[in-house]
Amino acid sequence: MTHTKETIKQQVEENKVEFIVLEFTDMLGDTKNVELPIEELDMVLNNEAMFDSSSISGFSAIQESDMYLVPDLDTFLILPSMVDEDRSARFICDIYKPDGTPFEGDPRYILKRAMQDAEEMGYTVNVGPEPEFFLFKLDKEGYPVRQMNDRGGYFDASPKDKGDKVRRDIVRTLKNYGFEMEASHHEVAMGQHEINFRFDNMLKTADNIQTFKNVVKDIATNHEYHATFMPKPIAGENGSGMHCHLSLFQNGDSAFYDEDADDGVSKTMKQFIAGILHHASGIAAITNPNVNSYKRLVPGYEAPVSVAWSHSNRSCMIRVPTTRGKGTRFEVRNPDPTANPYLTLAVLIQAGLEGIRNGLDAGKAESRNLYEVTDDSVPTLPTNLKEAINALKKDTVLLNALGDHTSEQYISAKEVEWTEYSLIVSKWEVDKYMNK
Ligand code: GLN
Ligand code: MG
Ligand code: MG
Ligand code: MG
Repeated sequence: MTHTKETIKQQVEENKVEFIVLEFTDMLGDTKNVELPIEELDMVLNNEAMFDSSSISGFSAIQESDMYLVPDLDTFLILPSMVDEDRSARFICDIYKPDGTPFEGDPRYILKRAMQDAEEMGYTVNVGPEPEFFLFKLDKEGYPVRQMNDRGGYFDASPKDKGDKVRRDIVRTLKNYGFEMEASHHEVAMGQHEINFRFDNMLKTADNIQTFKNVVKDIATNHEYHATFMPKPIAGENGSGMHCHLSLFQNGDSAFYDEDADDGVSKTMKQFIAGILHHASGIAAITNPNVNSYKRLVPGYEAPVSVAWSHSNRSCMIRVPTTRGKGTRFEVRNPDPTANPYLTLAVLIQAGLEGIRNGLDAGKAESRNLYEVTDDSVPTLPTNLKEAINALKKDTVLLNALGDHTSEQYISAKEVEWTEYSLIVSKWEVDKYMNK
C-alpha cells in the first residue's frame, strides 16, 4: 500500500493511535525499536527522529553515534490488537547519518544497493521465503524449557499437532498486517512448524521476514509457548531452515524461463545459479550466521550439504522446482531463519548477478543423492562458522556487497562468537573423554 504523510495522519486520527513504533534491523538480524507518543508524529514524518546508534550491533561508529530513523512510509501499519492491545502504529525505518546521507552499515541500505545493481542490469527479483520454527514449552516464570510443544510430525493433524491454534492465530494476525498467507502445517520434527506467505520483491520480503518472526514470537507467547528460529535446537531431529525461492524478471517477463530449452530453464538462470554456487562458502557466513547453523547442515535431515544444483534433490544447496513460465524459479536451501534477511538477499543477489556478468557455468544438474556420495567430486558447504568466515574474508564480491563498514564489523563479531564457542568445554566432551 502506498501512503503519504496525509493518509497516515488521517489513519492515525481515525484509529486513535497513541504510540508510534520505529523499527529497524541490526547487523545480526535482530529487530530493534523505539516508541514515541503520537504527539511526535510530525517530528517523525519530518525525518527528525534521532537515536544513539553506538549500542546497536554493527552500527557502532563512535565518532558519529547520532543517527536518524527515517520512516519508510510504505511500511506504515496500525498494529492489530492481537499483538498489542494498545493502539500503536509502526514504521520500518532507514538509517541516515547527520549529513543527510544513508548509513552504509544499515542492512536495509545494503539490500537496496543490491536491488539497484539488479535494476541497472534490467532485472527485478522476487523472493519467496519459507521460515521454519519450533514451539517449546515455558516454565512457571515464562522462560523456555527444552520440551517441544507436541510430538507431531510432517503434516500431522490435531490432536497430534498441538500447534494448529497458534498457527491459525499467527495467520490471522499476519492477514491483518496485509500479508498474503499461503499454507501452514506441522513440519517433520516434533514441535516444528511452518507457515508460508506469498513472495514479493526483495525489500518487501526482507521486511516481511522480520515482521513474520516477531509476530510468531508474540503470538506463541500469548499461547504460552516459546517460538524459536534457532537452526538446530534438538540433535538428531530436523533443523529449521529458511529456503528462499528466487525468480528474476526483465521487462515484466521471466528471465529464468526459456521455452526452447530442454529443461525450460534459461541460460541466465543457470549463470545466476553458478554465481551463487561459486560464492557459496562465503555466502554461508551470512545465510548460516551462527555456530549452531552448521549443526543443521549435515547429511540426513533434508538440509543441504553439497554445493550443487538439481531438479529435485534436496541434498543440494539449490533445487529447481518443476513450475515453468512465470513461476520458473530456484530454491536456495541452505539459509536458516537466524540469518539477517537483508544481508542474506543482498549477498545472494550480488553473487547471482556476478554469475551473469561473467557468464559462469553451473554445470549439469546433479541427480545423485549427495548424502550418499562420499568422494570429494562435489564441493560441500562449510562445516563450521570459522570456515565460512574465512571464505567470506577472501571473497571480494561478497565484501563489496556488504560494504567496508559491515564487512569489518560482521567478521569481527563472528570471530569473537567463534572464539567464545571454542573456549567452552561441552557435556559431550566430558562424557566422551573423562575416563581417558
Ligand atoms: N527442515 C528442513 C531444513 O532444514 C527442510 C524440510 C522441508 O521443508 N522439506 O531445511
Ligand atoms: Mg515449505
Ligand atoms: Mg519446510
Ligand atoms: Mg522448501
